[in-house]
Amino acid sequence: MRDEDDKLTFFYSGDTDAKVFQLVETMLNQEDQYLVDFYNEFLIDIYMLLDKKKSNYVAIDWDNTISADQEFFIELIKRLKAEGYIPFVCTLRAPDSENIKEIRSVLEETNIAIYLTNGRPKRKYMKSLGVKVLLWIDDFYPGICGDSCKILARNNIE
Ligand SMILES: [Mg+2]
Repeated sequence: MRDEDDKLTFFYSGDTDAKVFQLVETMLNQEDQYLVDFYNEFLIDIYMLLDKKKSNYVAIDWDNTISADQEFFIELIKRLKAEGYIPFVCTLRAPDSENIKEIRSVLEETNIAIYLTNGRPKRKYMKSLGVKVLLWIDDFYPGICGDSCKILARNNIE
């Protein structure tokens, strides 16, 4: 069992029939993390926002997301890959070699792509590269598309 202090509280208020959600939900239960479906910024550590349902891409933030529980996220990344999803790191950090080295050293065994947006909103940045995202996993949702965008409303954040 995980200590109370080590638990993260995940938020998801999208379609509960989405297969990717069911995969994450199963793992959250097995790993004894919290999951809530209501918005409370003081309670929630990590947001999971459903975006383009037909995509296989899962964008996972680095700082205070993967870095908050590296073992958990390495296992999640492996399970996502095994089910045909394409997880990748998407961080607001600058694309310098120190940042890449730090992230790569933790995620070496998963061999996933790392995108560093240099402070640019993540959704616009990935779209400019032709990547539409199925699910965003991030502790800071304004980093995805600012304070007001459709995916926030669709995921019941107001
Ligand atoms: Mg973060």
